[in-house]
Amino acid sequence: MNKPHSETYRIAIKGLVQGVGFRPFVFRIAIDHELKGWVENRNDGVLMEVNANQEELVRFREQLLSQAPAAASIESVEMRKVAYEAHETFEIRESRDVNGSITEISPDIAVCSECLDDLKNQEHRIGYPLINCTHCGPRFTIIRDLPYDRPNTTMDTFEMCSLCRSEYMDVHDRRFHAQPVACNSCGPVYSLECIPTCTEDIREILLKSAELLSADALLAMKGTGGFHLVCNAFRELGVAKLRKMKQRDGKPFALMFRNIEEARLFVEISEAEEEELCSWRRPIVLLKRTRDITRGIADNLASLGVMLPYMPFHHMLFEHLDTSALLMTSGNFLDEPLLISNERAREQFSTYVDGMITYNRDIFMRVDDSVSTVIRNVPMVLRRARGYAPSPIRTGFHLEGVLGTGAELTGSFCMGRGHLALMSQYTGDLKNLATLEFYQETYDRYCRLFRFTPQLVVSDLHPDYLSTRFARKLVEQNPDIEHISVQHHHAHIASGMLSSGLEGEVLGFSFDGSGIGSDGHMWGAEVMKATYLDFERLFHFEYLPLPGGDKASREPWRMGISYLYHCFGEDLYDLKIPLTEKFSREEIGNITALIQKGINTPLASSAGRLFDAVAAISGLNYFSTYQAEAPMLLESAIDPNEKGSYSYEIRERKVSFALMIRELIEDIHQGSNLGSPAAKFHNTLVRLIVELSMEIRAESGQDRIVLGGGTFQNRFLSEKVMDKLEKEHFKVYLPQDIPVNDQGIAAGQLAIGAHRRKLM
Ligand code: ZN
Ligand code: ZN
Ligand code: FE
Repeated sequence: MNKPHSETYRIAIKGLVQGVGFRPFVFRIAIDHELKGWVENRNDGVLMEVNANQEELVRFREQLLSQAPAAASIESVEMRKVAYEAHETFEIRESRDVNGSITEISPDIAVCSECLDDLKNQEHRIGYPLINCTHCGPRFTIIRDLPYDRPNTTMDTFEMCSLCRSEYMDVHDRRFHAQPVACNSCGPVYSLECIPTCTEDIREILLKSAELLSADALLAMKGTGGFHLVCNAFRELGVAKLRKMKQRDGKPFALMFRNIEEARLFVEISEAEEEELCSWRRPIVLLKRTRDITRGIADNLASLGVMLPYMPFHHMLFEHLDTSALLMTSGNFLDEPLLISNERAREQFSTYVDGMITYNRDIFMRVDDSVSTVIRNVPMVLRRARGYAPSPIRTGFHLEGVLGTGAELTGSFCMGRGHLALMSQYTGDLKNLATLEFYQETYDRYCRLFRFTPQLVVSDLHPDYLSTRFARKLVEQNPDIEHISVQHHHAHIASGMLSSGLEGEVLGFSFDGSGIGSDGHMWGAEVMKATYLDFERLFHFEYLPLPGGDKASREPWRMGISYLYHCFGEDLYDLKIPLTEKFSREEIGNITALIQKGINTPLASSAGRLFDAVAAISGLNYFSTYQAEAPMLLESAIDPNEKGSYSYEIRERKVSFALMIRELIEDIHQGSNLGSPAAKFHNTLVRLIVELSMEIRAESGQDRIVLGGGTFQNRFLSEKVMDKLEKEHFKVYLPQDIPVNDQGIAAGQLAIGAHRRKLM
């Protein structure tokens, strides 16, 4: 019976409200409030209708917003009064498909606290390591097709027992329509394979794994989106073995801590960082290290990648472990995609590991752990994968049918459906066939899941990137598809604009390692006026030779010599700094010969290479064993008390650092510890960015600044630049939900393509 003065309202909620238990949540609070009406899933959100009076409506809305399931993300709530209709009950209606738009697919969600409770108390799920509910558990990684129903997931081979089914059917139950619902008697199971033990008994698995991990054992362990390779984070031998197995020289490893208190013993965690660490996405968060950690994990770096348990099994394992942290790295070999299948993992890992912990539910979509950092209390995703993919980025313009294929490093593509930009998870560095296959496979699956048909493909200007070739192949297969190329650094800025919802013109600082420029040289320190349509290059770093091409980006000492030769010519041999002492006259001569003759020595205006040169000249890093090693070491070396900076000159809109290099060498001669030059170098870049911004604002009035490119992953630099610019009343934007590095390129390409298409 409807109460007096009741009216009928329609409430449309948009955002990520499907696959996260939103309809049952609405149902329960409607019942609590004794409201009648209905709720249904639409492909663009959730729509409900209720009979209520004003007061009830306000209370209902308040509860909708304040108590929504953790993984839900409400973008907008629209309420309007409609013609009165009497409802007798409150019901959940069948999903409806409107105007061909798409359903958002939930990312995978870390196990919720209620499930962790059930793990101990709910009879049929006591110790059940794959427990989940509508608020948590696997989603994107197990979905083969839409609609999101069990037969379309990798749970299709498991039949629900009658108890699970009754929960699944009961709208009052937390597992109402939880597609992966399962229990000890009907669900997938874990197993441990090691010699001589092979067991599916969860207690034995936990005890044996804990025993192995108390020493130097390596384990392969199946996670949500792929395998991890795991060892005790406090056993130097185990860490070394893992590093050897992964053929990984210096790239830092991330740790999973038992809980935040244990993590706090090693890293500083601000409130915003705590929130990010504990969020349902559970990314790896880069945190400031406060104490030494086992050698081989993150040598010489000031930060440490930390995550918290996110699968029920992780929690169960930590209860048995005597160590407070595990080293967990993606289960792949150098440059290859993460392994997801039990068979492949067995084949590839068994000779290296002491055991394999797995379960018999298949992973369909390969998704790595995400990585994020917190800059001025705002989280910024650096590797967008588990917990993020495939959440769309909402834009204010029409993107339908546009595809951005990305760059080379940290591969990703981005497809447009309606106003949504669907960005793929990180697909690895697109440098070999194996990652290209992963990329292609992911692309095919996104096309099916999101009913995407490409009309316009946008790639990088670089003709040899595999992502560019992929674009050309699509066009060859279907000549109706248009293809355009977009300059890399313009794409970085467009990507930042998209992430911050900006329109019109901005001033962009696009700083990174390198990308091909419109003039055929390598760019990487570009100051531009940019819109989604086009850009104008206003300033850039002076071009310097990159002796040996690609080799120069792996060997910072080459850039060091290039800068020294540029500043001192043949006198560089008399400098008496570690760099010129470390390498013989002949070795250095070989580099200068390359420069003189211009053999395999492109010109580059790259910020990344400037960091390399400074790191090499300072004696910090001559050979990189992983991408951006030199810049990371340089940032880690900073003495925050040093406020000084170096000189530079701007001539004909080009920035020369010749003076800086001379001053740096004086500092080195004076034997100052590296913290001071490292800080002065960073401060120089900050000063430069502020000076250029002021100059451009004086010319054009432009006061909106977008920072883009991998260089701005540098937290010290980004925070300082933003602080200083804001002090000068600029509005400064750093992307948040789109990586500032090359993974974000695809999104920028998409935005540029969508705007250029209007002119085509
Ligand atoms: Zn749960
Ligand atoms: Zn069951
Ligand atoms: Fe880049």
